[in-house]
Amino acid sequence: MADFKVLHLQPTVDFDRLPYWDVVIVGAGPGGLAASLTTAHRALTTLVIEAKDKPGGQPQFLYADKRIVDIPGFPDGITGDELSQRTFRQAVDALVQFRFSEELTAIDETEETVDDDRLKRVVTSNGSYLCRKVIIACGLLHYPRRLAVLDALESKNVHYKIPKIGDYEGRRVAVVGGGDSALDAAIMVLSRGGDVDVIVREDTPIGKADSVAHVIEAGGRIHTSTEIAAAEFAGEDIALSLNSGERIECATAIVQIGFLSSRETFERLGVRLNDDGSIAIDPYFETSRPGIFAVGDVHGDIKLIAVAWAEGIQAAIHAFKEITSPYWLNEKRLRDNKMMLIAEKITSAARRK
Ligand SMILES: Cc1cc2nc3c(=O)[nH]c(=O)nc-3n(C[C@H](O)[C@H](O)[C@H](O)COP(=O)(O)OP(=O)(O)OC[C@H]3O[C@@H](n4cnc5c(N)ncnc54)[C@H](O)[C@@H]3O)c2cc1C
Repeated sequence: MADFKVLHLQPTVDFDRLPYWDVVIVGAGPGGLAASLTTAHRALTTLVIEAKDKPGGQPQFLYADKRIVDIPGFPDGITGDELSQRTFRQAVDALVQFRFSEELTAIDETEETVDDDRLKRVVTSNGSYLCRKVIIACGLLHYPRRLAVLDALESKNVHYKIPKIGDYEGRRVAVVGGGDSALDAAIMVLSRGGDVDVIVREDTPIGKADSVAHVIEAGGRIHTSTEIAAAEFAGEDIALSLNSGERIECATAIVQIGFLSSRETFERLGVRLNDDGSIAIDPYFETSRPGIFAVGDVHGDIKLIAVAWAEGIQAAIHAFKEITSPYWLNEKRLRDNKMMLIAEKITSAARRK
């Protein structure tokens, strides 16, 4: 169906006096920012709630200095920081409103309705907001899986994200993990003259084959089927005893072994989850709770910026259609209605038997 009624928000809108928001988006990462631009560009009042004190999501908080090379239209790449700043500026220009350092805690249904929509109350650590639709784009919540054996050292040289560009020249760095994030970290350190040992628990790294090749070509050593058995200080360095019997002394350890499941937070929201703890959605990016959509890493198999963007845009357009289109033109409502009729028929046929 055509995406019609495309308007823009007027700068005269008094956002402090709105009785409710058309759309509240949770998370100012790539998915949330793309969704917010799209709803604001269609004249929907849009509020983004972000737990951190600035926008950008993972590209800003986990790899601000990395040059991202897989985004179409950026042949020379773009850093996580620049990408985040540009997308945020675009959202601000579209009159999207932001609340930073505010964390979602619950989404309640209310008795109030607007055009058949039951308003929702989005409850955060600082207050609550009435709205018609919610888009959850809170990613993986950024709780990296930790390694107890290294945490016990309480060293400032153990990192759970790719550290800001430092001077690794001639220094030995241990990178723990075999996925794309770990390999990216290794490549970054190698490109800055560091000497890298990648410690991988599995018998082959699960990250991209060309990244593995890049690490090896650049002189990195990959230790497969290997774990850290013990760690201690060796002067300013950290000495790692591996289960292979080898000992590595490094200036810095970077741990990239995935993220903790966000299951608990999602369970609190009362949305249906997939077996892996991600949020289940329908083809319209809507969750099991009508009017609540989910985009990006919170549900996706393919965790990429461009995918989070595309999903944010699609969910925003479905939310827009729900809000603006009459019943007989809204394919989702028609589909839901058809399903309901079929379900009723099946139930009454079963009763007759
Ligand atoms: C090391 C690393 C390198 C990567 N490199 C690339 C790459 O080169 N190219 C690529 O395409 N992808 C890359 N990715 C993946 C990409 O960053 C993610 O797929 C993308 O950021 C997902 O966007 P998102 O909006 O779904 O979530 P996120 O980026 O995780 O953003 C979610 C936002 O929601 C906020 N939030 C969380 N919980 C709450 C809450 N309760 N209340 C309010 N706000 C909340 C968070 O603070 C965050 O700002 C990489 C990932 C990592 C970890």
